[in-house]
Amino acid sequence: MRVLKFGGSSLASAERFRQVADIIKDKSQATKVAVVVSAPQGVTNHLVAMAENISDEAKLITDLGHFKRAITTIIEDLATSLPEFNAHHCEQALINYEHQLQRYMQGATMLTYCPDHIRARIISTGERLSVAILDSVLQALGLQVSLLAPEKFLFTSDSSLNAVADLVLSKERFSVEYEKLNQIALMPGFIGMSIGKDNEEGTITTLGRNGSDYSAAVLAVCMQAECCEIWTDVDGVYNADPRMIKEAKLLDYLSYQEAMELSYFGASVLHPKTIGPIAQYHIPCLIKNTSNPNAPGTLISNENDQQKRVKAISNLDNLTMVNVSGPGMKGMVGMASRVFATMSRENISLVLISQSSSEYCISFCIHSADMQQAERSLKEEFELELLNGLLEPIGLKSELSIVSLVGDGMNHQRGVAAKFFSSLAQARVNVVAIAQDSSERSISVVIEQRKCTAAMKVSHQNFFSHKPELMCF
Ligand code: ASP
Ligand code: MG
Repeated sequence: MRVLKFGGSSLASAERFRQVADIIKDKSQATKVAVVVSAPQGVTNHLVAMAENISDEAKLITDLGHFKRAITTIIEDLATSLPEFNAHHCEQALINYEHQLQRYMQGATMLTYCPDHIRARIISTGERLSVAILDSVLQALGLQVSLLAPEKFLFTSDSSLNAVADLVLSKERFSVEYEKLNQIALMPGFIGMSIGKDNEEGTITTLGRNGSDYSAAVLAVCMQAECCEIWTDVDGVYNADPRMIKEAKLLDYLSYQEAMELSYFGASVLHPKTIGPIAQYHIPCLIKNTSNPNAPGTLISNENDQQKRVKAISNLDNLTMVNVSGPGMKGMVGMASRVFATMSRENISLVLISQSSSEYCISFCIHSADMQQAERSLKEEFELELLNGLLEPIGLKSELSIVSLVGDGMNHQRGVAAKFFSSLAQARVNVVAIAQDSSERSISVVIEQRKCTAAMKVSHQNFFSHKPELMCF
């Protein structure tokens, strides 16, 4: 059996729903399939805006209007193009979810804020509507569908907005809940259920923005799928962002580790949390294009590439570098652990870390959105050291990007770093910080964001293009 996941862009219109249903129908002739769906494109953004603006009634009404319009258009277009389509069933689902949303809003308005567990319910409504619509489309094509409810088995941590799945518990529960399923099963992505404490029921959680890929990976583990297919709007993973580098090439194959590095360092095709479950359970993952189903796609699996080469180059923007430095750092045991414990307490994720051997300074990159919180908490933690001059004021430098070279085959290759740095010099880019772990699977540099395109272009040309071309910056 295979898990197929369709993202928002694959469900953006009535026509897209029809294409998706055709792919499902086709696949289900050869094997059992379990389908995971995102919300139709743009819908989650309207829902997030609603949860964020509960005190602004006019804005709420506008966003609710956008949300309803997006769904109604899809339902109406399907009703005209697909004779057997049960539009009434979908309209009824929309009315029910709209009532539910209004109840959550009323509750939140009374509280004057929207608690995270209510927010999770609001922002995941789009996925539930995708299920209702796709179910009706598949039924109109004469297909029988079993519905899977993530709240019955997909157990997660209790973070309402960025939950992590408990694979063992979810797998166990899935086998109890679902003994027999139709040839096609359908589940909303993005949604989980926290493990209740002290015999109390858990609450609905969401797996983070773009988390439906992760839902698909967890379902693939629960069902012991032979493959997890992620259907999206590009032909697969490219060796650089094709919006930035027009010569970017499609990769036919990636190892789990390469995919992990790439998704972490900016390739937006796969959500970074997705790779963990499929790599742990050795489930191959295929990235496919809904609009071009015959293209082979990119396969992510266990196999190691034998070729000694750099596979891809990726970039991640909107970063801030934090510097903790001063005479008090040198030789002091426990300083690094205090710096990182402070970040972890604030739930701030570190994108890259670098420390020189003089131990005078620890530098790390965070997403710029976390900058103020990071500064405040470090000032609190090191109040005494800052007061006594043992530490210099916390340094912050924003508008930075990370550019990373990725490839299993870089291991033991000489000259890769040299070529990378000379490319950066050629592009007239100053390097702010450097990191390479000892697996030698990636080399990352921190640079000014305004120089990122130049850095990417020259590096891509020097590593991947065989045509010499003079580039000046
Ligand atoms: N609909 C959610 C989002 O837009 C989850 C997803 O699409 O994967 O973030
Ligand atoms: Mg996505």
